[in-house]
Amino acid sequence: MDDASRSGGIYHEMEQEPEEQRRDRKWHVVRDLARQAWTEAPAFKARLESAGLTPDDIRSPQDWPRIPVLRKKQLIDLQRTGPRLGGLLTTDLGDLRRLYFSPGPIADPEGCARDFWGWAEAFHAAGFRKSDLVQMTFGYHLTPAGLMLEEPLRELGCAVIPAGPGNTMQQVEIMTTWPVTGFVGMASFLKIIRDKAVGQGKDPRRDFQLRTAFVAAERLTESVRQDLENSFGMLVRQGYGTADLGCIAYECPALGGMHLSSRCLVEICDPKTGEPLPAGEIGEVVVTPFNPVYPLIRFATGDLSRLVTEPCACGRTAPKLAGILGRADDTAKVKGQFIYPHQVAQAMCLVPSVARWQVVVSNPKGKDRLELWVELSEAVEPEKIQAVFQEGLKLRPEVRILGEGERLDENAPPLVDERTYDDGK
Ligand SMILES: [Zn+2]
Repeated sequence: MDDASRSGGIYHEMEQEPEEQRRDRKWHVVRDLARQAWTEAPAFKARLESAGLTPDDIRSPQDWPRIPVLRKKQLIDLQRTGPRLGGLLTTDLGDLRRLYFSPGPIADPEGCARDFWGWAEAFHAAGFRKSDLVQMTFGYHLTPAGLMLEEPLRELGCAVIPAGPGNTMQQVEIMTTWPVTGFVGMASFLKIIRDKAVGQGKDPRRDFQLRTAFVAAERLTESVRQDLENSFGMLVRQGYGTADLGCIAYECPALGGMHLSSRCLVEICDPKTGEPLPAGEIGEVVVTPFNPVYPLIRFATGDLSRLVTEPCACGRTAPKLAGILGRADDTAKVKGQFIYPHQVAQAMCLVPSVARWQVVVSNPKGKDRLELWVELSEAVEPEKIQAVFQEGLKLRPEVRILGEGERLDENAPPLVDERTYDDGK
């Protein structure tokens, strides 16, 4: 497999359909999905009724935004209110293929259809091809990423090494002993693997056979991408999606944003009203995946982006998302996990000596840093606080105990995201 064939071709003809045809196709799919969800998913019926609507009111694409958006925060409570995930699901839990759990905790039901989460076209665009041997470094235990992103590799005919995260030494050994041509995981982890190997006197081009990487779960800066591409002599591409929705958008060989997936409808909306914004404006990404099993119609992701509609050199015709430009609400995504202030509050209740706290996310030197600032009423080991936080949120913060005379402001927000991005286009 030479590099030209990796960056050429498309996975599905829908990737090159004319814009008008695409708009028409997507409209008919979501209209039918809404009709089906009305009869089979009581939670959707209740949402429509709350706005005084029935499917008969959704006659044209102009009517579509009348459907109130569904927020991720609502999912957590809604899923527990009754059978079939509170009426969000159109099938029984036992008839699914898998039931994943994401932090929140939120259940992510997977139906039995092939390429259920729609990542195959994204992996193809990233250069994965039949007969690649791929090291999967996302986790498999109580987190969806590993298995969920293994599905497209199976669809494309790749073989997978389910390595999971961590164990850097072993990862290096496997990658340099066996003809591993693909990597899936976080770019920062691939960097750690590279640096470890270099420290052992290995040469990333000579001792590795990596040709392509699909990275996700953290912001990929152009400097990190170029560093990795140059040192290994490989492609590094990313996709954007969530565990609830599957693939939303993905990069192509030509870069310049992420093409919208052919299997969902993406709207860029005013975060307050849920109304679509004029093309090119920054707004919240609202997604309707074409998923009749779990019809999350008009799901508001909380991520901010804008659409790029200029033609792309790769030949794909779908508009692109210009990266993720921020968060629309008060959650922050660190290492692929959302941090919700209410989860932190729950965790901190377990350490009574913590009087007050604040989560501070920053990115010195482009690397995400998670700090938990705490005011104590009596002494406690920072390790104890760290462990309780990690147990509840699956992330390990640096704990900073405020000393004499240091206090959190009375109106301090529970979460501060100070991250800045040098190439935040
Ligand atoms: Zn393209």
